[in-house]
Amino acid sequence: MNIDISEYYTTEEWEKFKSAADKYETPFLLVNTDIVERNYKDLQTFFPYAKTYYAVKANPDKEVLNKLNNLGSNFDIASIYELDKVLAIGVKPERLSYGNTIKKPNHIEYAYNKGVRLFATDSEMDLRNIAKTAPGSKIFCRILTEGAETADWPLSRKFGCQPDMSIDLLILAKKLGLVPYGVSFHVGSQQRDIGTWDSAIAKVKYIYDWMSSNEDVRLKMINMGGGLPAPYLSKTNDLQIYADEITRYLHDDFGDELPEVILEPGRSMVGNCGILVSEIVLISRKSRTALDRWVYLDVGKFNGLIETLEECIKYPLYCEKKGVCEESVIAGPTCDSQDVMYEYAQYSLPLSLAVGDRIYWLTTGAYTSSYCSVEFNGFPPLKTYHV
Ligand SMILES: *Cc1c(COP(=O)(O)O)cnc(C)c1O
Repeated sequence: MNIDISEYYTTEEWEKFKSAADKYETPFLLVNTDIVERNYKDLQTFFPYAKTYYAVKANPDKEVLNKLNNLGSNFDIASIYELDKVLAIGVKPERLSYGNTIKKPNHIEYAYNKGVRLFATDSEMDLRNIAKTAPGSKIFCRILTEGAETADWPLSRKFGCQPDMSIDLLILAKKLGLVPYGVSFHVGSQQRDIGTWDSAIAKVKYIYDWMSSNEDVRLKMINMGGGLPAPYLSKTNDLQIYADEITRYLHDDFGDELPEVILEPGRSMVGNCGILVSEIVLISRKSRTALDRWVYLDVGKFNGLIETLEECIKYPLYCEKKGVCEESVIAGPTCDSQDVMYEYAQYSLPLSLAVGDRIYWLTTGAYTSSYCSVEFNGFPPLKTYHV
């Protein structure tokens, strides 16, 4: 395996991870919140006009939330449980957006009673629930967009509605005494095609124009969701290039006076703040002459690496041994046959690897610890330590 650490971390960051890693028994996630701070500041530099609502689900670690809170970030929450978590560290409800379009009426009411006034929706039933339990709140409607083919972790058709239906919903919101406030989209997570923002923004513009000319409603906000990349194996453009392009699309459609622009980064904010440290449990072949070697680790799909489903996210792997490499199947420790991370992705690992050697999974700060099972096969959830 020949990844170059310096493409992912500075020498100082890597040394810090390494010396902390030596203190613990695997598997565990190491998080450096200084990297979160850098990502936050980069985002502010490149999108100076936008407000950041960190998508808590990507990594709800308390130190990550504290760091972002101290930096002045806003937060996008997906449930009342995330709500409680951010309120507990002192985030004011004015800085929250309830971005999940799927929610129970009593959860909407709970959030409203805690002071949340900004809600996403994409269906009439949810909208009516919001009108009943969170009267007078600001509503933004999530639209469907293209981009599933070029996102490494696409969000499919589960969320959002057609632009025409979003118009119906925003009109209904007004009738129900809510504030039709804006439009949101998410082009798919780890989106490699920047052009997907262009067509999404054009759809938003169409909705804006329609609402102002036919309903005399001036929408105020465009929520561009997540989708910005973290550094995995497959290369993406730099954040600055994303920002320059997306900013250009916004001005092309909205002119000089942009509406309030919201970004909801998850992966790009915390992806590279963490590395997952694992150890080899077993190395085997399936026959005397088998060409492929199976390398089993103490971490797998069920304790942090769920995004290797269909080998969608290809994490950069690092081990200290060098020398002749061989393509290897990389699998987890549980007795579920789905617990194979990479069979087709052609990861090659040194032939000299031995049981007990460590494998470092880089860029694992997002969607790992929050996604792991509670005790499948008795394995405990992934621990997080800070450096
Ligand atoms: C998951 C999610 C995000 C974060 O997406 P990333 O691609 O991880 O940045 C943002 N907004 C909403 C509504 C989400 O569901």
